[in-house]
Amino acid sequence: MNNFINVILPIPIENSFTYAITQAEAEFLKPGMRVSVPFGKSKIYTGLVENVHQEAPLIYEAKQIHQILDERPLVTSIQLKHWQWISKYYLCTVGEVMRAALPSAFILESETVIYKNVEIQINDEDLKDDEFIVYEALHHQSSLKIQDLMAILDKKNVLPVIKRLLEKEVINVQEEIYEKYKPKLVRYVKIATVHSSEKALQDLLESLSSKPKQRDVIMMLFSISAQTKKPVKKSDLSQESNVSASSIKTLINKGILEEYHIQIDRVQYDGDENEASKHLNEHQEVALSGVVQSFENQKITLLNGVTSSGKTEIYVKLIEEQLSQGKQVLYLLPEIALTTQLVERLQNYFGEQVAVFHSKYSSHERVEVWNKVLNNSPKAQIVLGARSSVLLPFHNLGLIIVDEEHESSYKQFDPAPRYHARDTAIVLASLFEAKTLLGSATPSLESYYNAQQGKYGLVELKHRYNNVLMPDIELVDIKDNHKRKRMTGHFSDRLILEMQETLNDGHQIILFQNRRGFSPIVECNTCGHSPQCPNCDVSLTFHQYRNQLRCHYCGYNSAMHKNCEACKSVEIDSKGFGTEQVEEEAKLLFPDHNVARMDLDTTRGKYGYEKIITALEQQEIDILVGTQMLTKGLDFRNVKLVGIMNADNMLNFPDFRAHERSYQLMAQVSGRAGRTKERGKVLIQTYNPLHRILQQVSTNNYEQMFDEQMDDRHTFKYPPIYRMIKITLKHKDYQKVNVGAEWYAKSLRTVFDKHVLGPEFPPVARIRNQYLKHILVKIPQKQSLAKTKEAIIKINNSFLSVKDFRAVRVILNVDNY
Ligand code: ADP
Ligand code: ZN
Ligand code: ZN
Repeated sequence: MNNFINVILPIPIENSFTYAITQAEAEFLKPGMRVSVPFGKSKIYTGLVENVHQEAPLIYEAKQIHQILDERPLVTSIQLKHWQWISKYYLCTVGEVMRAALPSAFILESETVIYKNVEIQINDEDLKDDEFIVYEALHHQSSLKIQDLMAILDKKNVLPVIKRLLEKEVINVQEEIYEKYKPKLVRYVKIATVHSSEKALQDLLESLSSKPKQRDVIMMLFSISAQTKKPVKKSDLSQESNVSASSIKTLINKGILEEYHIQIDRVQYDGDENEASKHLNEHQEVALSGVVQSFENQKITLLNGVTSSGKTEIYVKLIEEQLSQGKQVLYLLPEIALTTQLVERLQNYFGEQVAVFHSKYSSHERVEVWNKVLNNSPKAQIVLGARSSVLLPFHNLGLIIVDEEHESSYKQFDPAPRYHARDTAIVLASLFEAKTLLGSATPSLESYYNAQQGKYGLVELKHRYNNVLMPDIELVDIKDNHKRKRMTGHFSDRLILEMQETLNDGHQIILFQNRRGFSPIVECNTCGHSPQCPNCDVSLTFHQYRNQLRCHYCGYNSAMHKNCEACKSVEIDSKGFGTEQVEEEAKLLFPDHNVARMDLDTTRGKYGYEKIITALEQQEIDILVGTQMLTKGLDFRNVKLVGIMNADNMLNFPDFRAHERSYQLMAQVSGRAGRTKERGKVLIQTYNPLHRILQQVSTNNYEQMFDEQMDDRHTFKYPPIYRMIKITLKHKDYQKVNVGAEWYAKSLRTVFDKHVLGPEFPPVARIRNQYLKHILVKIPQKQSLAKTKEAIIKINNSFLSVKDFRAVRVILNVDNY
């Protein structure tokens, strides 16, 4: 009898491929094991066994596999099912999901480039002959391709050698290698507690009367801390009092001064005792039992708790419960780089049971986490990770927590699979019959809607922990301020005054300026009006070269106005301002304070985020200017004032979700103010203080925002009422894209009629020399999603079979929002 396997290859080609295997191989191989296989003329790939069978392929002769790479499955059967779902739902191939899921060290292929691992000392005796030959070759050449290795070893099956070398960590595969981040510890000094009473202090100073230098150091310490009202850095003290670090050391040794790190408060995890979890307050208790109760008849529950209400502590209780039942927990976060604080908090409670899956980890580290999760190791009972950790090989998952579920970074846009981690997590949980908890202070409309419809359970938590008041939010009318000449650059008098006071009290400030996107928005300098599309609930975008205003959703366009429609002013402007300008101005306004900036430009390098976050925590930064990165769940104790520089550019962003997102961003960034005891203050500068969203943010009225936005979504047929699939055509030839898109849209219209929008060029219609054109398919609630997709795939296939269009790239993006 002939034996075959179907193999998933990590490439965007439909379906799996059939390879021939021997009887012995058939007995050994199981789904989820890796094999190396030849492909095309000369390629080699790592493939995953999907199933073992006896049916020869009909249209081609099955090739033999090269080699079996695993002793036991690396991918579980539940994962394979989950990947099938992703592939079907998000219209991509299972191979693309495989590529996203597996660390690159697991998918060796002819394109793989290997390097010597310089961080490890190799003992020649530990290497087998063929391994040694490769190792030797890497002394002469810094990198080698698989092709090179085939020549060097004079054989085709080189993947097993590479695999062994990787396991011994002798080599690395090509990718960016990241180091582990260790926050820099800044040393601070203060008067030792025994001397801190007034009497003790007097005595101390007297006793030092014969040592004027030491006395001066102490006086200087007082003077600095009186001035700055902040912890005093050891280095500052040494500099200001003009004595050496060793003189200060002497004072520390004598027990007069005390040295400490601010980070001590954060309780570093040292691998010993775990901290007991916190005792919940009454509101948290009610919420916790609400969640537990809800899970009795709902698989998915939304926990809507205001910022700083202590949601994390509720998660901790739920995690404890799962662990006691021997179940794994997945804790999803929008952005792991921003969450050192949370990682530490969980490690304090759960110690080594927490495994962190970080996209910035090296392949070796990711492989390590993968194996721990696969083996259900005690060291991976809780997996903390961003988007891609839903693709890990879980064994007995009991609970998935999706923290900050409203965050847009849960959706992957490029490359395929273009999946949404929240929705993908829900499906994963259901494969395990596990529960999913969605948490947010500002839920996405779709999740809140699902909760309202009874699809999800809903638990609300309206009190901040410790009864800290919600921040006091004040709207500042900059139109009026401009008129009365009360603006200094982009700062209103009100904001400057509040900043001054905050700094005088030794507290910190966050300034938020959301400058995303590239397309300028037209805004009237006099009244702040911005032209809107009559068919859609979005602002029109100015296209300079055609001098036109266009809607990017429906294609509506009009000539650029000469006067403002609302107030007839001629001062209409399309310029915006970004974080950099705010930083510059803040430096000029407050030259004696440290101003820093956190946005994509300043955090690009390794540990960019961590450095800034640590500096803010250690109070080396007085004023932090940043983009929406600032909103992601950070907990800074000393921030008392948040300034939102311009709310209007968010509100006018040309996207049907602009209002929802503005609410979320502003509410989240406001939530950074005053998280302990003293009430925080938020100033929102705007041209439209009467804007509904701003009113809703300032009164913390999520429900009203939700109701009004849902009305719009009904009226304009947007999610969550309608669903959407975006089809993007891409080619370097403008004409090809144009003609192709017309053809595609026309075919779609024969099936979906008026629910097809476009084709429309996006604001940036050419990226890297490729022209882009979008078509949007809206799907009414009653229409079957599966059938819709089938119809699209059919049209897509006929499109790609037209000779002229074959070279056009088509990108299908399901739930593209
Ligand atoms: P959220 O995630 O809802 O914004 P957090 O869980 O970060 O809120 O809690 C806000 C702050 O309150 C944190 O510093 C946390 O340590 C503290 N906190 C929350 N619940 C408790 C509790 N039950 N006991 C002690 N401190 C708590
Ligand atoms: Zn105007
Ligand atoms: Zn429109």
